[in-house]
Amino acid sequence: MFENKDQSRTSLSELGEFGLIDHLTKNFTNKHKSTIKGIGDDAAVLEHSEKQIVVTSDLLVEGVHFDLSFMPLKHLGYKAIMVNLSDVYAMNAEATQVIVSIAVSNRFPLEALEELYAGIELAAGIYNIDVVGGDTTSSTTGLLISVTAIGTTAPEKIVRRDGAKVGDLLVVSGDLGGAYMGLQILNREKEVYKVNPNAQPDLEPYAYLIERQLKPEARKDIIELLEKLEVQPTSMIDISDGLSSEIIHLCKQSQIGCRLYEEKIPLDPQLISACEEFNLDSTTVALSGGEDYELLFTIPQTDFEKIKANPHLSIIGHMVDEKEGMDLVTRGNTLVPIVARGWNALKEED
Ligand code: ADP
Ligand code: MG
Repeated sequence: MFENKDQSRTSLSELGEFGLIDHLTKNFTNKHKSTIKGIGDDAAVLEHSEKQIVVTSDLLVEGVHFDLSFMPLKHLGYKAIMVNLSDVYAMNAEATQVIVSIAVSNRFPLEALEELYAGIELAAGIYNIDVVGGDTTSSTTGLLISVTAIGTTAPEKIVRRDGAKVGDLLVVSGDLGGAYMGLQILNREKEVYKVNPNAQPDLEPYAYLIERQLKPEARKDIIELLEKLEVQPTSMIDISDGLSSEIIHLCKQSQIGCRLYEEKIPLDPQLISACEEFNLDSTTVALSGGEDYELLFTIPQTDFEKIKANPHLSIIGHMVDEKEGMDLVTRGNTLVPIVARGWNALKEED
């Protein structure tokens, strides 16, 4: 994980800006009919007739959003695409194009950027999106990546945060808290490595959690599943900051309350053992740990039969009147108000 990959190093200045852009983008091919002109002109040209277009952007900053001492650049490229596609899917739209901008300091050799772009290319291939442009500039400090994603959908398919109704079921995909615990494990190994660079960490028992942190997947499959099951969520959001704050967003925007059942929150067995080891409460981690990129949505009760047996989906609560508040129903059957702390707050407590 922490080995010194002292491969060949080609200085960025050898290529110049245009040479660099050409080199990094030479493998990108356009798969969508809607991409009329991709990389290579002053702007990309897209044609999305009769559909609504969703556009979203995320900026990732070295030292704030990622730590290159344990984040391989290929994974970073992949993740930068995922965090954006996740927002497109959270609107119930199909992601079609992305624009990728980078600011990079000269401490990075060309080979490092090749790795970054290998991850971007991999994501674009698997998720069927075209990389249609970007910008490349220098940075005096670290690496910055900004991705803008574009998606389309029929107007009646769009799902916003503000459509949840009293009585709707609250549903989440996958399991929660894994990405946060993966980060805790990576940070711990980094400290061990600083003291003893020869230590060989056994990360196998945490493989799933580390993958959740380093190689998240946006839930395109869930959007396709909902389409197949003929379920149109009434509201939806992706889980980037933690379950609590996303639930609060849905409730506030829909002017509604909720009951979230602690015992229903989906947790992976690896997460439960890692929480025991770190002496952390797994419910707190699921509520406040971020970066899971799962989808949280509400559906009418009449759709219960369509989703009840699905292994990818968990019904974790239901929506109530705004006056009844937003509460967690604990395993001991007491009501505790849901508070948004987000994963940054959790971090400060450590
Ligand atoms: P301009 O001078 O108009 O900003 P650039 O020389 O920066 O144009 O970019 C040339 C082409 O390469 C454009 O199509 C732009 O969108 C694309 N491009 C620039 N940087 C990147 C990048 N990091 N990733 C993908 N495409 C890029
Ligand atoms: Mg430019």
